[in-house]
Amino acid sequence: MAKTQNFKTESQKLLHLMTHSIYTQKEIFLRELISNASDAIDKRHYLSLTDELVESDTYEIWITPNEADNKLVIADNGIGFTEEELVENLGTIAQSGSKAFLEKIENKEIDIIGQFGVGFYSSFMVAKEVIVETRSPYAKSGYRWSSSGEDSYTIEEIDRTEIGTTIILHLRDDDEENEENFSKFANEYTIKSLVKKYSDYVRYPINMMVKKTEDKKEKLEKETLNQMIPIWKKAKAEIKEEEMFAFYKHQFSDFEDPLKVIHTDVEGMLTYTALLFIPKKPAYDFYSEHYEKGLQLYSKGVFIQNKNKDLIPDYFKFVKGLVDSADLSLNISRELLQHDRQLKKIASHLEKKIKSELENMLLHDREQYIKFYDAYKITLKYGLYDQFGMNKEKLQDLILFKTSKSDEYISFKEYIERKPEEQKSIYYATGKSKQSILSLPQMDVMKEKDYEVLLFTDDIDEFMIQVLQSYQDVPFKSIQQGESDLIDDTKKKDLKKKEKENKDILSSIKEALKDKVKDVKLSARLKGSAVCLVSGEGLSLEMEKILKQMPNQNEVHAEKILEINPDHELFTALKSIYDKDHEKINDYASILYHQALLIEGLPIEDPTEFANNLVKLMIESSKL
Ligand code: ADP
Repeated sequence: MAKTQNFKTESQKLLHLMTHSIYTQKEIFLRELISNASDAIDKRHYLSLTDELVESDTYEIWITPNEADNKLVIADNGIGFTEEELVENLGTIAQSGSKAFLEKIENKEIDIIGQFGVGFYSSFMVAKEVIVETRSPYAKSGYRWSSSGEDSYTIEEIDRTEIGTTIILHLRDDDEENEENFSKFANEYTIKSLVKKYSDYVRYPINMMVKKTEDKKEKLEKETLNQMIPIWKKAKAEIKEEEMFAFYKHQFSDFEDPLKVIHTDVEGMLTYTALLFIPKKPAYDFYSEHYEKGLQLYSKGVFIQNKNKDLIPDYFKFVKGLVDSADLSLNISRELLQHDRQLKKIASHLEKKIKSELENMLLHDREQYIKFYDAYKITLKYGLYDQFGMNKEKLQDLILFKTSKSDEYISFKEYIERKPEEQKSIYYATGKSKQSILSLPQMDVMKEKDYEVLLFTDDIDEFMIQVLQSYQDVPFKSIQQGESDLIDDTKKKDLKKKEKENKDILSSIKEALKDKVKDVKLSARLKGSAVCLVSGEGLSLEMEKILKQMPNQNEVHAEKILEINPDHELFTALKSIYDKDHEKINDYASILYHQALLIEGLPIEDPTEFANNLVKLMIESSKL
């Protein structure tokens, strides 16, 4: 009995777009249907390795254009659909390509249908009715699914024994300005050229029965329309860039050319071909938990798995692509594959290859590398930090920073090479922007010394540096944390002396601030500025900020040390006020502390107190 059901809302939206499409490149529907057919055969082929019932002698796709009936039929002997799968796969859109497409379309970027794999529904651009007849080896009968692309579809049981799927398109005749009353997609030559154009590398034969004249007699003969050579099996020199880019866009549902193609053929102890791509931009779900890394896996051209996670480390998870190896034993389950030694070796090769390609790019094509780095720096930095810095050696040379001196990115290596001989640390400072870092009081001494400071403007930066600690034995040092290492011995002695002389006022300020600060000190790192806040050796102020944004981390505190510039006029003023009236120092201490918080970009703990103290001060100064 036939059952009619409604499409899910999202599908209806997509279908509406398809049936009313004014899109000119309607022809891409054929590429989509052939690609589905090829995937379905892949699945059956893979299952047949462990299940005899599923096996077939041949794996083929057949296309039959029919002008008389204005029809186009595409048949495959792939895995077919069960009834549930028809509902699940053709009644809803599960696939990410279509979802991304729908999102784009909401922004009216209509002309991009061809660049997304919108899949099966694209057939409604050319057909007024679509019928799917199918049989899965796991179903008790065959089924017919049909729809005219409105709100609903119908499913009924049919007699069908052969495993696979036949898609019948009743074509529209209205979208051609020709005299004929059939669509151009019912025409043999149109279809042949479209198969060549879009599907030449499909690995299974795409066949058509064509009329041949021999000895003046017409007869029907099978013709295979595609070359069937997977693009990665062709000699590198033979692949045109354009062809490679088209393959990438289609295979990995991107609508832009890749930023980088890595094509490698390895022969010897281990034999494989890998075709890797770095997308120009992170996939739309790249930063969500739904993003799945991985490479497609083939064995001698037979598809095994869509996303093999073990082939790509997390820190290169932006890499897309495929691996084809003759060394993988085929009748192995996907679970066992995880422990496959060959696979581990390939993964380790690929990791080295990607790394060296990136290093090369950094060395020889800086402009391209910067594009790459801007797109994926967070992933690389996180990779360095992850697992207690286990992979830091591998990644540290791929990391770049802008600096207080230059808007160009530099690497740690370059920093070390151009720093003055006597400079003993790699300095960095953390802040929201270059501007906010440059105006930090702690920058005074750096400017005076003419030292370069790395600008840490991403949240991850400071966490990353905690695991890195040093580069080529030169330690990293925050200019906002701990003792400044720029003070020479005479200065230190001088400072000690001044601290002794001013012991009372410093301890009064400290007392006034109670547990807000761990210490109040005189500073040798400040030049033009009056005060600054530095953190002790543990958690930095910046890390406190980041951690505070996380749930249940409100109690984290960096040790704060208030540093006062003894050479600043303000300190002289403080002293004279203190001498006149010890009590006054309390208000001043609070203002100083809040000011220092503001400069560091930290929230003021008690805005009212701060404002009241300022007001008090203004009134007093007016009375002078
Ligand atoms: P996708 O990009 O996932 O192929 P489609 O909308 O084109 O999206 O197809 C949805 C799903 O329907 C596919 O993922 C696949 O599971 C199933 N499917 C499509 N065509 C076929 C076919 N010819 N044989 C078997 N299953 C198919």
